[in-house]
Amino acid sequence: MGLHYGQEIFEGLKGYRGKDGGLYLFRAKENFKRMNRSAVRLCMPEVDVDLVMEGLKKLILLDQEWVPRSEGTSLYIRPTMIATEPHLGVRPSNTYLFYIIIGPVGPYYKEGLNPVKIYVEDKYIRAAIGGTGEAKTAGNYAASLLAAEEAKEKGFTQVLWLDAAERKYVEEVGTMNMVFVIDDEVITAPLTGSILPGITRDSVIHILKDWDVKISERNLTIDEVIEAAKSGSLKEAFGTGTAAVISPVGQITYKGEDHIVAGGKMGELSQRLYDEIVAIQYTAKEDTHGWVERIG
Ligand SMILES: *Cc1c(COP(=O)(O)O)cnc(C)c1O
Repeated sequence: MGLHYGQEIFEGLKGYRGKDGGLYLFRAKENFKRMNRSAVRLCMPEVDVDLVMEGLKKLILLDQEWVPRSEGTSLYIRPTMIATEPHLGVRPSNTYLFYIIIGPVGPYYKEGLNPVKIYVEDKYIRAAIGGTGEAKTAGNYAASLLAAEEAKEKGFTQVLWLDAAERKYVEEVGTMNMVFVIDDEVITAPLTGSILPGITRDSVIHILKDWDVKISERNLTIDEVIEAAKSGSLKEAFGTGTAAVISPVGQITYKGEDHIVAGGKMGELSQRLYDEIVAIQYTAKEDTHGWVERIG
């Protein structure tokens, strides 16, 4: 049933080796809480967060030699749930499998943080309000592949999605939330149901508040972004997500016009945020938010 009717949900997080050689997780409980919200949306059963946290810790401890030690490396963790009932006919499955895949990953940025070129998608849409956009579920990604492939053929790394109703407001990119810095305002799309509530996005918001930087969760039109790029007030743009942490945007292309962002380089705030989050994750810096948990 999972293959026919798409009841599949997943999460993505990482395990890190700290300065002391110990094993650490970053905000892992938030991932299972989000998985449960995805489960409700897809008519799938919720997991007991404390129980799966225990299971995850035991799994990592058993396989701890797979957590790599060199700089910037980590253990990728992919909790997954699929419908397994052998049945044809549209209704929720009566059986499910929950499992966790883990595997060592190298540094996301092999040659430094290279800004990406993004293509503003004005033909296809990813998710509409009321749909499944805020759930981490397979169908959202299947629906995004054609746009991503067409953008890749044109030389772009990512698609920037606009809202489904009006193709007017910026939403997010493939597997990252988007943040724009216009003059001294940092702006990210509000969680209105069509975008994924990223944990990195949430961490960025908390850190910016700590730093007294103005952060607005508000609707931002693509026209405002392009105007700001033209006038020079678009200082930076970046994606936020577990894999890359912060992914700077060097170029935005909309309706055939290229706009260079931050001189095509990584912006100052992007770099500061990246350094801060990575330092907390690898325990090089004090964790004042209670985000990091030592598991062994
Ligand atoms: C996973 C994901 C994100 C980022 O979420 P994090 O919790 O920060 O990793 C953003 N958008 C989409 C569509 C995603 O699938």
